[in-house]
Amino acid sequence: MEESLFTKIIRGEIPSNKIYENDHVYAFLDINPVNKGHTLVVPKVPCVGLLDCDPEVLAELMKAVQIIARALKEATHADGINLMQNEGAAAGQKVFHLHFHVIPRFEGDGFEHWHGTPYASEEEAEQVAEAIKQKL
Ligand code: AMP
Repeated sequence: MEESLFTKIIRGEIPSNKIYENDHVYAFLDINPVNKGHTLVVPKVPCVGLLDCDPEVLAELMKAVQIIARALKEATHADGINLMQNEGAAAGQKVFHLHFHVIPRFEGDGFEHWHGTPYASEEEAEQVAEAIKQKL
């Protein structure tokens, strides 16, 4: 995997506003936050995304996400939190080093969730569910 921007941030070659660090994880403020306090949580052993990440690294990442989300909610007096991860360019991933966005949310802050479209039929939903289960 090509060396990423986030690896350079972890090594301190590019400056960041560090929030948290342990043996497995580095977390820092997003340079272009959705709301103030928007934090990125990144594994030190790089992987591109969720699909290629070592599950044990992922577990460490999730523990850190919870620690950071709790602190961030208190510090920003947020009403809620969005946890987000963009997997692949089609999903909006721009930096190809796995990262979770921890985003403080406020009542009436104006950011909207995507709008879903219900399945055309129960049969269609069952077919989709079956196709996924076949791959487990
Ligand atoms: P994604 O689209 O999920 O790959 O998100 C990449 C995120 O990295 C964006 O929200 C950017 O604002 C953020 N970002 C890019 N460069 C930096 C940087 N130097 N320091 C902090 N955040 C950054």
